[in-house]
Amino acid sequence: MSVFGKGDDWKPPQRPDCACREHEEDVLGLVIPNADWDADPTFAELLGTGSLGVSAIDASERFMTVLDGPSLGPFHWVMWAADEIYGCYEDDAVVSVDRALAEQAGVELVEWYDREEFRIGAAGLCRSGMLAVVARALQDPRIRVAGGDGGGAVVQDGA
Ligand SMILES: [Zn+2]
Repeated sequence: MSVFGKGDDWKPPQRPDCACREHEEDVLGLVIPNADWDADPTFAELLGTGSLGVSAIDASERFMTVLDGPSLGPFHWVMWAADEIYGCYEDDAVVSVDRALAEQAGVELVEWYDREEFRIGAAGLCRSGMLAVVARALQDPRIRVAGGDGGGAVVQDGA
């Protein structure tokens, strides 16, 4: 299945050669509900905290193994979402943040790697488009609806 070594020459695509549906400038003004803030912040304000961002993953981390499971990958981006972002989602949401990310156009694979770190396979997205994907996932109201079982089967009501 996975071919190790393949993909290590991946570089983040640049506009206009990327596959992004949207870019950062399209989403900076989106208001993202956040229970921890007095007033719901815009996506730009969330980025401004430094608690949220993306960066291209090092080629040496293109694949990873969780516990003794199969190798996962390839991953292209790391997304971090630290303390200022916690209020944007419920831990037991009916749709988890990684699931919301995985549903976005251009995203092939998401692994919620750590409390504040997601690894994302999205070879065709540039950095700006990856940020737009993050904004759309955080805007998804389902991530703020408690009652999920933490990753089991979720009935999807297609938009
Ligand atoms: Zn792009």
